[in-house]
Parts: sequence; structure tokens; C-alpha cells
Amino acid sequence: MTPLEATNFYLNEAADRMSLSGSIRSMLMTPKREVRVQLPLERDDGSLTTFWGYRVQHCNARGPMKGGLRFHPQVNAEEVCALASLMTWKTAIMNLPFGGAKGGINCDPPQLSNAELERLTRRFVDEIHEVIGPNRDIPAPDVNTNAQTMAWIMDQYSKYHGFTPAVVTGKPVALHGSEGREAATGRGVALVCREILEDQGKSVADATFVIQGSGNVGSFAARCLERMGGKIIALSDLHGRIYNPAGLTVPALLEYLQQTGGLAGYPDAESISNEALLCLDCDVLVPAALGGVLTAENAPEIRASCIVEGANGPTLPEADQIFRRRGIEVVPDILANAGGVTVSYFEWVQNIQQFHWSREKVNRELESRMIEAYRGVRKLAAVKKVPLRTAAFLLAIGRVGKSMTMRGV
Ligand code: NAD
Repeated sequence: MTPLEATNFYLNEAADRMSLSGSIRSMLMTPKREVRVQLPLERDDGSLTTFWGYRVQHCNARGPMKGGLRFHPQVNAEEVCALASLMTWKTAIMNLPFGGAKGGINCDPPQLSNAELERLTRRFVDEIHEVIGPNRDIPAPDVNTNAQTMAWIMDQYSKYHGFTPAVVTGKPVALHGSEGREAATGRGVALVCREILEDQGKSVADATFVIQGSGNVGSFAARCLERMGGKIIALSDLHGRIYNPAGLTVPALLEYLQQTGGLAGYPDAESISNEALLCLDCDVLVPAALGGVLTAENAPEIRASCIVEGANGPTLPEADQIFRRRGIEVVPDILANAGGVTVSYFEWVQNIQQFHWSREKVNRELESRMIEAYRGVRKLAAVKKVPLRTAAFLLAIGRVGKSMTMRGV
């Protein structure tokens, strides 16, 4: 099943319960606009390589569209459509005044120099600047993009439209970024872990965690959970997977990652396979790398008590069905990893107001919004007797549908 088929499977599952008409349903499953642009890049050695850049704008019923930019060799139109759709539902669940979008370039950043990455990013902005903007579509970081990427985008966009910090979020704090944005997705994941554990009669301090991925989301989730007293027993990146049943020391491990560029060879842990990592006995499994990692094949072997989706689309529908049968609760991506877009919203608000919030205020607001969203979805799941994922889609479709109806198609 492709990422888009998976997203639409979950959407349909909720739409069936709402008896949503076929015409509205097909509108919700189709993006409003898809842009694909050719990106020729002059390499440092003078040769030319051509990439594709994508921006998909899924729905703007609730406000300007919002979503990350991913730089990865596997980026393609179909995957970007799926991720854009997820953003529509995510922003609705968090009750943010945004719609959903997503974008990316099919490049492999480790194969490019910093100067090449900058030229490629600026070229992308040259091609899409007319369809993005603070009241239209606001990109943010995702896989292999970061605050520096956002700074280049802001600068290039401003050359066309005048100084416009609110065109992107996730910028460096020194350049109109928000305090707390870098950690926000991982922090939100950790808060959701705390809430679901509480629902299961446990606490973070008594729990063990396995995290796949140690990039932005995985590393900050690990840091926050450890600070809350949790025990991180396994962590991975593209090349290394490390396990220590006694608990890993997160700051030391992240320093090792910073220094060596990878987790492989970390001395204070055992090296294991990716499949073994996903199937470790633990309280919470946090997939925080790429999509489609929990499948019909490995779902029967998963030994976590619950799954909190840090990544977008990590659980394929066949696996989700198996988890439901096995009583393993899954907090869906559109709720679990919504901390990032929530603080992106705070950054956009600060840029528009030309005002700076303290880290304490950002974290306080993030916590209250994450808890409110989680509790809202949990309550709906109990009332409708459905899994958290279906409840999350029900809530989101209801809000988006209401806006569409009130605005008029
Ligand atoms: P990132 O580029 O910072 O990190 C990705 C991590 O995944 C790295 O540790 C990388 O080594 C690892 N990885 C890549 N391929 C892997 C593989 N095949 N097996 C195991 N590990 C692999 O990206 P990120 O921003 O942390 O995003 C991770 C996920 O979270 C993505 O699905 C993204 O869409 C989602 N997400 C990110 C944000 C955000 O604010 N950055 C917000 C919401 C959702």
C-alpha cells in the first residue's frame, strides 16, 4: 500500500462512520494544488545535476496551508500528497487556523556540499515563491531540513516580496525563529507518551522506551522523556541501532552522535538489527524516522504496550488492524507529532505581531494544547468506541468539513 493509499484508508474509515457524501470525500482526498518544478543545480565541480522539487497544497478551508519540506532521494509526488493531507488533519486536531501542505526535493543532502544545498534551496524558492507566503502556504523543517534551510528560504523569498519572516517557520531563533521550536515535535511526543501512560495506570518514570530515529524528533523525544525520568533502552539512526536494557544515557549518546555523525559503535550499548529494535519488549515504541516501518510482517512481533507515532505514516493499515486486535494502542501521527506545527503556529504569530515569546511561555502553551488535543481525541474515542486514530480523523474531518460548509465550496 502506498503512503497516499494508507492515508486515504484511514480517512475513509472515519468518513464511513460520518456517512460523508462521495463528493465531499473525494474533495478531502484530493489536493487543492500540486506543483512540480525542475531544479537544475550547478555542482561545485561545474557539472549539472537536475532534481525535482514538489509543493502540494491539500486544503485551505481553515486558513493558510502549513507543512514541512523534506529533502530525501525518495521524495515523490505521491508521498508528498499523503503528507500534505496528514497536515490538514493535524492542524485541525490542534485547532490551529491553518490548512495542510507539504513539499520536498528528491535530493540526498549528505551527497551535497553546504554551498550546493544553499543554491538548490534558493532555486526551489525561485520556482515556488508565487504560491507560498504568510497568508497562503508556510513551509517548515522536516526530514533533512533545518533552521538553516528555513533561513535561506526566508532570505530568498524576501528578495521577491520584501522582508517576510512569517513565510517559513522553524527559523533560527536569532533570525525571527521561536524559542522552543527545534525541540517542539519531540517535546510534544514526550507529553503524549506521558498522557497515554497515565491512561494505562503507569508513569514515565516507571516506563521503558524504544525510539527509532535520532534526528530532530527522536533526539528531542529521548531528551524530554529522560528528563521526565523515563528509561530509553534503544535508539537508532540510518546506520546504527543501539540497545542497553539498563537504559542509555541520552546526553552522552547525543554528544557521541554529534561528534561521529552516527550511533554505530557507541561503546555503552549492544548493536542490534532494525527489526530487533522495533520488536523489543518495552512500554512505549516511538517510531520517529520514516514512514511505513510497521507492517503486516512485523506487527505480530511487536512487544510494546503502546505505540506513539513520532514519524508521519509509520504504521501501515494492515499493521494497525493487527495492533487493534492485539490491544496495542496507537497514538496516531496527526496527534502525536503535532507539537512541531503547534510551535510553528506560535512562531508565525510572533512574526506577524513582531513580538518575542519566552521559552517558558512557548513550552507552557505547547503543553496545554497537546494535553487538550490528546484528551479531546481520547474522549471522542471513548464516546464513539473507536481507536484513537479513527477518533482523531473524526474530529479533524468534522472541523474541516464545517469550515468548508460555512465558507461555501
Ligand atoms: P531528521 O532528518 O532530523 O531525522 C531522521 C532520522 O531518521 C535520522 O536519525 C535518520 O538517521 C533516521 N533514519 C532515516 N532513515 C532511516 C531508516 N531507514 N531506518 C532508521 N532510521 C532512519 O528528521 P525529523 O525531522 O526528525 O523527522 C522524522 C519523522 O518525523 C519524519 O517522518 C517527519 O515527517 C516527522 N515529523 C517531523 C517534524 C519536525 O518538526 N521535524 C514534525 C512532525 C513530524
